[in-house]
Amino acid sequence: MLILRGHHLICLHFFSGEGYDTPFVENLRDIMKRAKDEEIEITSDADNICVKCPYLKGHKCAYDENADEEIKEMDKTALKFLNLGTRQKITWQTVKEYIPVVFQEWHDRYCNECNWKQACKKSDFYQEMKRR
Ligand code: SF4
Repeated sequence: MLILRGHHLICLHFFSGEGYDTPFVENLRDIMKRAKDEEIEITSDADNICVKCPYLKGHKCAYDENADEEIKEMDKTALKFLNLGTRQKITWQTVKEYIPVVFQEWHDRYCNECNWKQACKKSDFYQEMKRR
């Protein structure tokens, strides 16, 4: 079973092959493959993506001074938008069906200020969501 945190349930849909380093990207590709068949349990903490992130220190994001707090806030917002909760189990396909419903609000709130915007813009699904 995959363990994923709230904001990854949205952002991962727009993965375009870019990431911090090779192990991180390879792990993302593996998670995308596994997500087709495996159930996902939602966590409020570091998840199967975070474990390969070079900025993970202990269980916390050390990307910058406020990163861990900001990411936890993103997780909460994502789960609120998706109407999901921690420890709940869900499939990737079910989450994907919600993305068109939540994308505009998510985009307006987070994407414009996000360091990964240029990478997500390369995703066909991201462009499809923007055209709606
Ligand atoms: S631009 Fe940032 S916030 Fe928006 S979907 Fe991509 S990673 Fe998530």
